[in-house]
Amino acid sequence: MFKTVAKLCADNNRHTVVGLLQPLLQLQRVDTALLQLAHHQSSLAERTSLAAAKAGLVATQGKHNKLLTELKAVKEDVVALEAANKKCEMAIQKYSQQLKTVIAPREAEALQHEIETMRVERSGNDDKELALLEKSENIESQISELAEQIDSQQASVEQATLALNSALTTCEADKQKLDAQRSQVASEIDPKLIKLYDVKRNKRTTPAVADLHGTKCQSCHLDLSVVELSALKKVSAEEFAECPNCDCYLVI
Ligand SMILES: [Zn+2]
Repeated sequence: MFKTVAKLCADNNRHTVVGLLQPLLQLQRVDTALLQLAHHQSSLAERTSLAAAKAGLVATQGKHNKLLTELKAVKEDVVALEAANKKCEMAIQKYSQQLKTVIAPREAEALQHEIETMRVERSGNDDKELALLEKSENIESQISELAEQIDSQQASVEQATLALNSALTTCEADKQKLDAQRSQVASEIDPKLIKLYDVKRNKRTTPAVADLHGTKCQSCHLDLSVVELSALKKVSAEEFAECPNCDCYLVI
């Protein structure tokens, strides 16, 4: 690898090597900005807000649907009770007619008993129906509250979608700017050097090229010792200085 670098440095002088690393550092800065942008894009607060708004809407729709099913069942029960009461009415009518023509007291007693049974059943059904009507009124009012909630949550989802789209548009514009910047910076660097940079970059998650702030490598953020620094300054003209801690190219 170092030989390749040496070949790139026509006059084999250290100044040229440092001069080669400088544009790579610029390229690295653009790549770091691109990575940060990608991370920002994937963890947008607007995305979380939209997910929360959607989840809220789905939960309310679920409750709404459950209540609709419940209401349907209650209404069916009311219809069944009304049908049962109609049967009771008809039976009472029938037994009352029969009662008019019956002479034997035992038969009359039996018919009266039947009529009473039907009346008790009808009264019980009436009570049940009243309770069911009260229940259905209560469910209907809950359904209407939830419908209002759904309307407002749908508006929230629309708003959150717009906010996310706008944030994504901004990210896309930033990316285009950085991509253009990268092409510009890369166009001024020897492709062989870019290849070296790519090889190093693909093996790591931290920057492949960094400079020093004081004695601190800006890739691994570790301090270099005096001995390490002095060794780096003695790196030959054919080689790029590398951080002894993280192995990145160091612009010294
Ligand atoms: Zn380092």
